[in-house]
Amino acid sequence: MERLLLVRYGEIGLKGRNRHVFEEKLADNMRAALADIEGAKVNREYGRIFVRLEDEGRTGEALERLQRVFGIVAVNPALRVPLDLEAIREAAAMLVRAEGDPPRTFRVSARRAYKRFPHTSQELNHLVGAYVLRHVPHLTVQLTDPDVTVTVEVREHAAYVYADQVDGPGGLPVGASSRALLLLSGGIDSPVAGWMAMKRGIELHAVHYHSPPFTSERSKQKVIDLCRVLARWSPAPVPLHVVHFTEVQKEIHRHVPQELGITVMRRFMLRIGERLARRLDAMALVTGESVGQVASQTLESMAAINAVTNMPILRPLVGFDKHEIIQRAQRIHTYDISILPYEDCCTIFVPERPATRPSLAAVEAAERAMAVEELVQQALENVETLHVEPAPAYVGA
Ligand code: ATP
Ligand code: MG
Repeated sequence: MERLLLVRYGEIGLKGRNRHVFEEKLADNMRAALADIEGAKVNREYGRIFVRLEDEGRTGEALERLQRVFGIVAVNPALRVPLDLEAIREAAAMLVRAEGDPPRTFRVSARRAYKRFPHTSQELNHLVGAYVLRHVPHLTVQLTDPDVTVTVEVREHAAYVYADQVDGPGGLPVGASSRALLLLSGGIDSPVAGWMAMKRGIELHAVHYHSPPFTSERSKQKVIDLCRVLARWSPAPVPLHVVHFTEVQKEIHRHVPQELGITVMRRFMLRIGERLARRLDAMALVTGESVGQVASQTLESMAAINAVTNMPILRPLVGFDKHEIIQRAQRIHTYDISILPYEDCCTIFVPERPATRPSLAAVEAAERAMAVEELVQQALENVETLHVEPAPAYVGA
């Protein structure tokens, strides 16, 4: 009998070569997540991924890490036993006895993937259930909503028996999709957008536009801290590129009619972002924009902003209400950092009445007074790159 963690991942639609790449990536990312748990081993066997721990006392810790590995749907701490009814029965009884809160009701849910095993799933339910009833006191069978469900999976090489399940975050393993550059402000939205992009397997870099002395060191630190939280979901440190944006902001202030200031500022963010992305081999930009939230997020405004680039822009929050975004931010622990009061570059120069329907012609006319290309070049020459390591685990996260 062997203890191990049985890892489930979304298998549907993953066929042929894709599946192989997906599994390999997922196993690698799991190894990265478990790197400092000594003696933790991740193996792909029989079309499954298993984790074995030398020190069983670290199971809780390992499960906590695996809950932040995208691609994992669920993890079951399981017993692997030979294809033998007695071994399966004993494992089932052992698991029920080991439940922290002694269960009063239970059921067995058997699945026979290996059809040559002499008992059908139905028979197994009865045979294993009866054994557990006989060997664990004060227990009754209850088919709907029991305190504990013992699952038995019979496969060709062995049977797996488990009673507990920890949910993973789902999605695809980071790195299974290409790389993208997240425009990361200190706000609530963009960290959540970055998390959702990572969930689709995207490897993230982040860019932050920083405008000292109008924005303080503390506001920059806030962005680093947000990046540290995102890095907890990543198999490697997240590169954060800090672009000095003061000169651009000043030039906008000097030349652009106030009500168009934000539109022009966002256009600069995209221009610089696109160039930086190409330099980094990133295929797309990611923003925390949603439709209708603020003046710069009307479709008219997005059109005027988007006109400077052909690069795909992912806006994972587009269909979310603010309330849903906040809930997600709380769940991933970016919220408390995001609501710290430090100014961001946009709050400094925000006009009283930004245009909600800026026309592209008016915006382009305003920019004619600026040395656009020079400003972009200059900003790109002055990029500071930090490789942001994950923040330590939150208790109970
Ligand atoms: P957030 O909460 O992410 O700041 P928001 O709803 O406040 O979003 P805006 O401030 O209009 O929206 O910004 C829209 C998007 O532009 C942000 O989600 C982010 O992707 C990007 N952005 C804004 N400011 C910065 C900045 N200083 N550095 C990098 N990206 C930025
Ligand atoms: Mg903002």
